[in-house]
Amino acid sequence: MTHSNSAKNPTACPYCDIATEAEARMPFCKACKLSLFYCPACGGLVGRGEAFCPHCQAEMTGQKEK
Ligand SMILES: [Zn+2]
Ligand SMILES: [Zn+2]
Repeated sequence: MTHSNSAKNPTACPYCDIATEAEARMPFCKACKLSLFYCPACGGLVGRGEAFCPHCQAEMTGQKEK
């Protein structure tokens, strides 16, 4: 397995990959203005509509949008 480059920065925006101020718990990305969600388990940024956290694989609940 050589494609381990997909390890995402938990503080990077899931949409534009620009690093955000995750410690400030910004509700949206400053760069692309899209809503940000934070994993309740690891605190990493999760894209809207994601069923699982890309960082710790925790199941995301409460954002069942279609
Ligand atoms: Zn963004
Ligand atoms: Zn997580």
